[in-house]
Amino acid sequence: MTERLVVIGGDAAGMSAASQARRRRAADDLEIIAFERGHHTSYSACGIPYWIGGATDGPDALVARTADEHRARGIDLRLGTEVVAVEPDRGRVRSRDADGREEWTGYDHLVIATGARPVRPPVPGIDAPGVFGVQTLDDGEAVLRGLDRGGVRRAVVVGGGYIGVEMAEAMLRHGLDVTLVDRNDQPMSTLDPDMGRLVRTALEGLGVRVVSGAAVREVLTGPDGRACGVATDDAEFPADIVVLGVGVRPGTDLARDAGLPLGAHGGLLTDRAMRVRGSERIWSGGDCVEVLNLVSGGLQHIALGTHANKHGRIIGTNIGGGYATFPGVVGTAVSKVCDVEIARTGLKESQARAAGLEFVTAVIESTSRAGYYPDAATMTVKMLAERGTGRLLGLQIVGREGAAKRVDIGAVALTAGMTVDQMVSLDLGYAPPFSPVWDPVLVAARKAADVVRADTRKG
Ligand SMILES: Cc1cc2nc3c(=O)[nH]c(=O)nc-3n(C[C@H](O)[C@H](O)[C@H](O)COP(=O)(O)OP(=O)(O)OC[C@H]3O[C@@H](n4cnc5c(N)ncnc54)[C@H](O)[C@@H]3O)c2cc1C
Repeated sequence: MTERLVVIGGDAAGMSAASQARRRRAADDLEIIAFERGHHTSYSACGIPYWIGGATDGPDALVARTADEHRARGIDLRLGTEVVAVEPDRGRVRSRDADGREEWTGYDHLVIATGARPVRPPVPGIDAPGVFGVQTLDDGEAVLRGLDRGGVRRAVVVGGGYIGVEMAEAMLRHGLDVTLVDRNDQPMSTLDPDMGRLVRTALEGLGVRVVSGAAVREVLTGPDGRACGVATDDAEFPADIVVLGVGVRPGTDLARDAGLPLGAHGGLLTDRAMRVRGSERIWSGGDCVEVLNLVSGGLQHIALGTHANKHGRIIGTNIGGGYATFPGVVGTAVSKVCDVEIARTGLKESQARAAGLEFVTAVIESTSRAGYYPDAATMTVKMLAERGTGRLLGLQIVGREGAAKRVDIGAVALTAGMTVDQMVSLDLGYAPPFSPVWDPVLVAARKAADVVRADTRKG
């Protein structure tokens, strides 16, 4: 008998799951219906800041697979259709299309891939015209329309996380005066403050005014009702455009209303096969789930496309009759602002402390290429290692070309449970155009290993 898979959410996790299930099961064996409330499917939100900044084309270029391409592969994709209720007991979902028509659809398997919803600070003026989020391709188009209005000279970006700094770059590329307002002490709070300070210095060097430790209290509006600035407790910052990048929360209202299990961070809880805990037929992945952090051992909500795509593929494999599991993450993320690359993996100091881990740190400065090779640029590398054992706990890098992807060495070492001492002997590639003879990550590992040894002798 033909089974039916229903997917809620037509982007990275949902359509990866649908596509992988389709690869493994033919249409007469598995009917697939995917509901997406928006107008796009399989789009790269990751590319939005680069599209807005003019580095890439968009929006079509950011669509990995169109609705028609999915349909041609036997997926009944229904755009502009929102799922408004899930009834796990009866195995059905209620959807509402653009004309307000509602219907029930039964399922044998359900994939909840509803993503995350952007945080909008609950302050006066936040919904005024001229205030933009950057979550969807429609948002990207709205920002570009806002920039095209003419007379736009000043931008305030609210939020100093990776989306905030990427949007600061995009606004700079439009030639605007950019102010970044962030409530944390340093931008990029996924880094330790000493590394975040380097990002701040880099932003300021690019001409961005960085206002830290300041929460937005109000979006100011002009006589025409449009945003004309933001106010914090201490100051007002005029703006012709306000861009929000203040983080996201798991989009789990539907799941919560259906009585499905949520974790402390509001994300759905799944097993390693990405099956929702306690549900035989319901699966979930992407930005709406919590994931195991392999370094801390705790659950976390990390909204990244790299995880969403893997989750979707695992879910599709399992629904398709195979077997796949997601082991967890080590917390790797890379970003950039203009030519400054920012990377982290593992735990930062406060996360290690919260996990009850004692650690030592090592910070080094090195270069991206052999010092004598043209365009060698400095990079700062910070390493956290567990006291006593010397196990690598975290790695952060801020530098120029070649800095960010070096963090992958740390991601592999963390996954393998390596000590910093073991890392020192890693057989990394070397030639003058690519690194000094001792790669910056190895120099940091060497220093961290020394600190671990000195600490052990002392204690
Ligand atoms: C500006 C920006 C830059 C980013 N850059 C990076 C990056 O560099 N690297 C990286 O790894 N990640 C990045 N990300 C994160 C990445 O885009 C997300 O992690 C990824 O898109 C998550 O995929 P998802 O399928 O879980 O959720 P989403 O992409 O959010 O998709 C969920 C979909 O579900 C739909 N939906 C929700 N509820 C319903 C409902 N009830 N009915 C029907 N449809 C529904 C939504 O409309 C949405 O299309 C970035 C995100 C943004 C916004």
